[in-house]
Parts: sequence; C-alpha cells; structure tokens
Amino acid sequence: MNIILLGPPGAGKGTQARRLVEERGMVQLSTGDMLREARVSGTEMGKRVAAIMDAGELVTDEIVIGLIEERLRGDIGGGVIFDGFPRTLAQADALADLLERNGQSLDHVVAMEVNDDALVARITARSTCGNCGEVYNDITSPIPADGKCRNCGASDFRRRADDNEESLKTRLMEYYKKTSPLIGYYHAKGQLRWVPGLGEIDEVAASIKEMLDSA
Ligand code: ADP
Repeated sequence: MNIILLGPPGAGKGTQARRLVEERGMVQLSTGDMLREARVSGTEMGKRVAAIMDAGELVTDEIVIGLIEERLRGDIGGGVIFDGFPRTLAQADALADLLERNGQSLDHVVAMEVNDDALVARITARSTCGNCGEVYNDITSPIPADGKCRNCGASDFRRRADDNEESLKTRLMEYYKKTSPLIGYYHAKGQLRWVPGLGEIDEVAASIKEMLDSA
C-alpha cells in the first residue's frame, strides 16, 4: 500500500509516518529529511537548497522529483508513505508517472486537518533527537528530565533552522498557495481521505489506522 500524508507544516506528518513505519513495516520517504541530509553532507545540491529551506520556501520540483525517483528504485516492499511530497501539482503529476512506470499505484491520500494557531504553537515548541529523529514538544512531550532520548538514549537534541516564526509564515503561505491545491486534485481522483489532525498522537494514529483498514 502506498500513501501520501498531506497537511501543512506542523500537522504531524512526520510523527504519524514514523508510527506507520513501526506498525506496518512501511517505508517513509520524507523529502524534508532527504534535503536536510543533503545539506549536512555538504553536496552541491545541499548547499543550493540550504538558504531556500531556511527561508521557508519550496526547493525546485526538479530537485525533489530527482530525490524521490532515486529512492523509488530501491526495495519498497511494505509500501511507501510519502511525507512532505508531493507539494506542488507538478510533483503530483511526476509521482503518478513514476508509480505507473514502476507498476505501482497510489492507494490513499491522507489529509490531516489542523488549524493555523495550533501549527504555530506546535512548531515553535518542537525539537528532535539528532541521533534517531524522535520528535519532542516542549509542552506536550518534553525531553525527559535526565536529558536522554526516550527512544535511543542519545542527548543531542536539535531545533530546525526553519522552525521560527518568520520562516513559518512563509512555509504556511507556500502551503496554501502551492500545496493545498493538491486537496482538490486528489479529491477529483477519488483518493482523498480526511483525518482530524488535532488530537493526541495516539488518537490521530488510531484515526489513520481505522481509515487505512476500512478503505
Ligand atoms: P514541514 O512540513 O514541517 O515544513 P519538511 O521537513 O517536510 O517540513 O520540509 C522542510 C523544507 O524542505 C520545506 O520548507 C522546503 O523548503 C523543503 N521541501 C521539503 N519537501 C519539499 C518538496 N516536496 N518540494 C519542495 N520543497 C520541499
């Protein structure tokens, strides 16, 4: 089963994708994570995208489609969760072509419903483990008092360079201008499924599970 998690920055796509990886053995393909890896590895592409990402703008379709194309050549046995991709109509068309060429299909597009105030609060409170990627939130799931990651025990916590109010404004605007049209696109294709994204992590995970199992 191949699915897309669709929603604005901070909707919880990455957190839910990690759950699906653990529970269903699916593969998470996050273009945001791939681009962050590229920037720390210091490749030419990484250097080119760093400033764009920090400003909260979208990197070019060509770059992200190239990244996804490369990953789709590997083994995607348990199915793929596309997290943060596609983000434009051109990317959505490219994904449809790539899947078709690989004899694969897209099963569901899970749209996470949240409101902007919740997004700002979530993002400005967010940090992740630099070792395993576990996500923390200063208010709802703080870093343990002993300063060690609850998942892997490392003590290197990071905040993303673009998790500040200024970049966030741009990221939200980019989402509404360029990504939210995908809601209409996938609705027209009969693939769109809404889930409420505002509850506890477990509640949201349960809604997604119910949707995937019943569809
Ligand atoms: P979030 O959903 O929290 O904004 P991501 O980690 O998915 O974060 O993406 C971080 C940044 O990486 C985006 O603001 C953008 O600059 C870039 N990016 C990620 N995915 C894409 C994509 N599919 N197309 C263009 N830019 C992307």
